[in-house]
Amino acid sequence: MLKVEAVEKSFGDFKAVDRANLVVERGEIVAVIGPNGAGKTTLFNLITGQLKPDGGRIVFKGEDITGLPPYEICKKGIARSFQIVNIFHRLTVFENVQVAVLSHRGKSSRLLETARRMAVRETMELLEAVGLEDKASEIAGTLSHGDQKVLEIAIALGNEPELLILDEPTAGMSPEETASTIELIRRLAETRNLTILFCEHDMEIVFSIANSIMVMHQGRTLIQAPPGEVRANREVQEAYLGGE
Ligand code: ADP
Ligand code: MG
Repeated sequence: MLKVEAVEKSFGDFKAVDRANLVVERGEIVAVIGPNGAGKTTLFNLITGQLKPDGGRIVFKGEDITGLPPYEICKKGIARSFQIVNIFHRLTVFENVQVAVLSHRGKSSRLLETARRMAVRETMELLEAVGLEDKASEIAGTLSHGDQKVLEIAIALGNEPELLILDEPTAGMSPEETASTIELIRRLAETRNLTILFCEHDMEIVFSIANSIMVMHQGRTLIQAPPGEVRANREVQEAYLGGE
């Protein structure tokens, strides 16, 4: 479904992503791991068009999407959440998702009164899918951090993606929120036919839900393999898992 080939990105003299490779097959849950500063977020920004690569190629469903702007990439079926929560804080939970659904369908919400009545069923369905239906009328900025992160997933789903990219979906969450979010991701992958690419610090989470793990180190791909193979890899143990 997604193929990242030798993608590069420098900030000044510093190579944040250095000929990184990644393959995501349809239906998989793929994790990208690596220490802080390894280049995970930059890699995601290159895939979703927030940044343009200096070199390399990104192919989605057989089509070269390298360097396309974010809205074009989103239209092709890739949606994402951000490491730092990215929602409309002063809109309600419902409106946050409704805006995503409407804009995905190319309907502007300029005619606000009409827009308010549009896509209500679809929006509620998405809120139910992530378990935020009871908080639909709350102002998004007043939600707990964990709920805001989950809201961002619902917003991403409003774009009806085939590939959902999540940048540290459980960052800053309590252990309970983390567990339920992981369950949510697993359920979304299963019930909505979603392919998921995410990065995450907690190795227990990574090894419990990923079918495939890509290890990044200093902008490079050390290895991409099934969890068992990654765990057994000596280079990975030395670079990242601390030799345990
Ligand atoms: P990760 O998500 O794996 O923690 P990042 O992709 O955020 O890593 O960052 C990789 C490296 O690139 C870091 O050293 C970071 O400081 C640097 N970096 C990221 N974005 C920028 C930027 N916009 N300008 C300069 N340096 C950046
Ligand atoms: Mg990051």
